[in-house]
Amino acid sequence: MTVKIGIMGYGNLGKGLEYAIMQNSDLELAAVFTRRDPKTVSIITQNVKVYHADDVFDFQDKIDVLILCTSSAYDLPKQTARYASAFNVVDSFDTHAKIPEHFKAVDIAAKNADKTAVIAAGWDPGMFSLNRLYAQAILPDGDSCTFWGKGISQGHSDAIRHIANVKDARQYTIPKEEALKQVRSGSFENLGIRQKHLRECFVVIDETKLCDDEKSVDILKNEIEHKIKSMPDYFDKYDTKVHFISEEDLIKKHSGMPHGGFVFHCGTTGKNRENRHIIEYSLKLDSNPEFTASILAAYARAAYRLNKDGVSGAKTVFDIAPAYIINKTGEELRSTIL
Ligand code: NDP
Repeated sequence: MTVKIGIMGYGNLGKGLEYAIMQNSDLELAAVFTRRDPKTVSIITQNVKVYHADDVFDFQDKIDVLILCTSSAYDLPKQTARYASAFNVVDSFDTHAKIPEHFKAVDIAAKNADKTAVIAAGWDPGMFSLNRLYAQAILPDGDSCTFWGKGISQGHSDAIRHIANVKDARQYTIPKEEALKQVRSGSFENLGIRQKHLRECFVVIDETKLCDDEKSVDILKNEIEHKIKSMPDYFDKYDTKVHFISEEDLIKKHSGMPHGGFVFHCGTTGKNRENRHIIEYSLKLDSNPEFTASILAAYARAAYRLNKDGVSGAKTVFDIAPAYIINKTGEELRSTIL
């Protein structure tokens, strides 16, 4: 069995998917779609073509699963339901608060078309969500807590870039060591926003705004630092460090897309709840998009298999049995990794 995959949108995630498909012998890249001029988008896989997104509906009999690699903020709220009316789809929609309404819209479209749509399949939401669920199901008398990082937050980096006289910026979200230590010891008390994460920012000033006079450079840096640290919700509730660096250093030292984090759960059992159990799941990712794409590839396999089983509608990682996402038979799984 080979699952023919279409990639919709060719950014970091789209590129990551090409690598993921290469590592899965049962998946085959059939086509890539973009809203840009296809001639301007070059992909890695040979013998596969890039088409305009408007042409995707001509591929209904050539694609088993369309993986949506476009933006959660701007594209997926409209696109997933639209494409689920013609294809089995997978997306990595990550706006947690809007998942219920996204699920509803996609569910209606997919059910009407007898298609399977896996939504919010990344690492958070996604793998982290699964680990929270397993932990809470097993130890209902307990507390869960999630840390993110160390990693680049695209949203916070963009927010800094919007400040006047800033040319470029990267923001790392970093779990605080003291907080990790406390949670690992089984205490979840007094862990507010400020106690859990640190925000570290690397900022390049627009050089055309720099005067030779050192005093005015310092004033400008102070102004920018104040604007960052006082930005409502993004930074004002956190301890934030700001470093001013050259554009060259930003490119050299901060061009990667690392990320990761931790899901903890601490629960008790026993007559007097005297026995404590701590579950820790952690991710340390060199490339957030390549890892996320690898998850989407595994869930594309599940979408295909579920649809073959006659299952339609929207699904999340909670609804899909683990055996559906791996390229092994039940027999192989029972004799190797059970
Ligand atoms: P990108 O910004 O790299 O790409 C998003 C879209 O923008 C692409 O699909 C592409 O669409 C367009 N695009 C990309 N590069 C260019 C360019 N040079 N010029 C013009 N347009 C371009 O985003 P990512 O791939 O990094 O992330 C996509 C989404 O994945 C994010 O919005 C995020 O929400 C989600 N995500 C979810 C995670 C999870 O754990 N659930 C984890 C990580 C990400 P087109 O080809 O049509 O132009």
